[in-house]
Amino acid sequence: MKVLVIGGAGYIGSHTVYELIRAGHEVVVMDNLSTGYKEFVHKNAKFYLGDITNKEDLTRVFKEECDIKPFDVVMHFAAKLIVPESVKQPLEYYHNNVEGVRLMLEVMTEFHIKNVVFSSTAAVYGDSKKGICEEDDPCDPINPYGASKYASENMIKWVCNAYDMHYCIFRYFNVAGADASLEIGLKKDVLTHLIPVAIQAGLKIRDHMDIFGDDYDTKDGTCIRDYIHVSDLAYAHVLGAEYLVKNKKSLLVNLGSNEGYSVKEVVDVVRKYLPVDYRIAPRRDGDPAKLIASNKKARELLGWSPKYKLEDMVKSDLAFRKKINNK
Ligand code: UDP
Repeated sequence: MKVLVIGGAGYIGSHTVYELIRAGHEVVVMDNLSTGYKEFVHKNAKFYLGDITNKEDLTRVFKEECDIKPFDVVMHFAAKLIVPESVKQPLEYYHNNVEGVRLMLEVMTEFHIKNVVFSSTAAVYGDSKKGICEEDDPCDPINPYGASKYASENMIKWVCNAYDMHYCIFRYFNVAGADASLEIGLKKDVLTHLIPVAIQAGLKIRDHMDIFGDDYDTKDGTCIRDYIHVSDLAYAHVLGAEYLVKNKKSLLVNLGSNEGYSVKEVVDVVRKYLPVDYRIAPRRDGDPAKLIASNKKARELLGWSPKYKLEDMVKSDLAFRKKINNK
């Protein structure tokens, strides 16, 4: 397959590019390097600097590449994804996450590209009453990040319906860890996700960490999430793309582990390796109490299930963080 990965220099995008190349596929990356790193792009992938919200940038990549050989699949990772930031900057989230997808789809239709793999999120479910989310559950996002992804999901469905295209929408749960090569991992000036924040606190890159709320209606009062290793997630994208090309059918599946861990439980795993100083802080805006994925559909349709456990995510993120911080 020839695959265009938009946002392929970022965290999940770069891991997916590695897995696509390991599986023998041809990869083109477009990224604006706003949060990604050129050095994260696999050396066997072709790179274009470009912004998904700029139609000229998109058209240049499609024109140059499709003149040689059309893309079989386009993958979208170029999104903003920090829940509290989205609460403060909803317009930026709608512009980047929804308008970006609209332009990508417009250019795909102009070049007659038929398959799209889209990164969505468990945040579309909102405050799940059942606790374990299934793909047919009603969606009611409680923050602008989730709302922007849900709007994009619907747009993709309508466009695929109108233009005889197919989609693979993945709803991610909490992604963590780093590629076994340690060449790539989660690298940001300001980290907000739980596992890397706890590890930074343990490595004394930050003084301590906050646990946001211990009065939720959960077993220990802290929020419960479903954590998934980035390499498991990345490999699911290879399977999703191959499924589209082979079956010419759309699919929407959760990528999670079927298991939930509380914030305190996650911090305890990190504390097996590092001394983490934490304080209990007020709840964070936009946080649902509990999000766990049912991954039954991913197993049935793609034959996918996670290989790695929470401890593997902690260990690989720790190794990556030590490497980039010279610890
Ligand atoms: N969290 C926390 N302290 C932190 C970062 C996160 O207590 O420094 C909590 C957060 O409130 C949520 C869970 O950890 O309940 C996972 O948050 P994260 O930002 O990693 O991912 P999200 O679920 O928001 O996508």
